[in-house]
Amino acid sequence: MTSAAPLAATINPLIADKPLVVSGPCSAETELQVLDTCQRLADTGRVNMLRAGIWKPRTKPGLFEGIGTRGLPWLIRAKEQTGLPVAVEVATAKHVEDCLAFGVDVLWLGARTTVNPFSVQEVADALRGVKVPVLIKNPLNPDVELWTGAVERLTKVGVEHLGLIHRGFSSYGNTEFRNAPMWHLPIEMKRRFPTLPILCDPSHIAGRRELLHGLAQQAADLDFDGLMIEAHQNPDAAWSDAAQQVTPEALAELLAGLTWRRETTDQQEFLTALAQLRERINHLDDEILQLISKRMAVAEQIGRYKKDNNITILQPGRWQEIVDRGVRKGAKLGLSQNFIHRFLDAVHLESITHQDRVMNE
Ligand code: PEP
Ligand code: MN
Repeated sequence: MTSAAPLAATINPLIADKPLVVSGPCSAETELQVLDTCQRLADTGRVNMLRAGIWKPRTKPGLFEGIGTRGLPWLIRAKEQTGLPVAVEVATAKHVEDCLAFGVDVLWLGARTTVNPFSVQEVADALRGVKVPVLIKNPLNPDVELWTGAVERLTKVGVEHLGLIHRGFSSYGNTEFRNAPMWHLPIEMKRRFPTLPILCDPSHIAGRRELLHGLAQQAADLDFDGLMIEAHQNPDAAWSDAAQQVTPEALAELLAGLTWRRETTDQQEFLTALAQLRERINHLDDEILQLISKRMAVAEQIGRYKKDNNITILQPGRWQEIVDRGVRKGAKLGLSQNFIHRFLDAVHLESITHQDRVMNE
């Protein structure tokens, strides 16, 4: 966790607490629903920014597509009533214009906007010279370049207070999660933009409320700066994303059950032990790389034999045998099947590249 004040100042000068918790309904539906939900969120004392979707980018037509501009005054009333700043998703220049006209404090780009450079540029152009903080959700697909591109487009027009939101990545056949978390991608964004605060949106990753707590704790453990979680006065009756929303009171309980750890400490004993363990990791990583390099040398030798005997590089039977063996051994060593598959895929591809070079040099 980065310290509270700089984070707060980066994302929104109005906020002084950590973690940054943004909550509110998926969609603004009625004035009553917005005011009741927001007041109950404020009453928890654990939420420092309100959210509501005004324009909803729905995958298919015929679903509730948002209340539109007439919902903005409801949010402004919620802001006046609670004293909390409000955030709204924008996807077009008109959305930006309307939000600014009503005094919305923070804007965010949704996943379906970040994925489209034309839309990101349209929003960026509407923000030229405007001092409003903007949060950028990851694109729908697992592409850190598109996410990075959105950061660059907004930075170029002079948006000063930027933040990221990790909401998971869609793919055909997602089962456990609505959107796969693929934590390595937000981690890569943290590496690229160490000064940008990053929030996790477990609601859109999970798709169902039972999974929220585990995901939120995982985000806290990965040193995220805060959370965006959807809450509704009556979740099951929500006009969008009903299964993943929680009541404000359930949100408070969830937040109370999270442990936010510090990124570092100045306690000497801990730092020494950590340094020693990290040295061991570095040493083991070096050994792994040396072994992989040796493995490639053997693969090249095989490549030469194959060339001399006019045999193809890829032999599906042998590849299957490698995977089966790896999974069997991995299970005994406490390594997940998923990891073994991804690891062997990468090693196999590198082997093929080496053999290809040898056979065609
Ligand atoms: C939302 O926050 O309600 C939303 C539409 O999210 P996403 O862009 O992550 O799908
Ligand atoms: Mn939603």
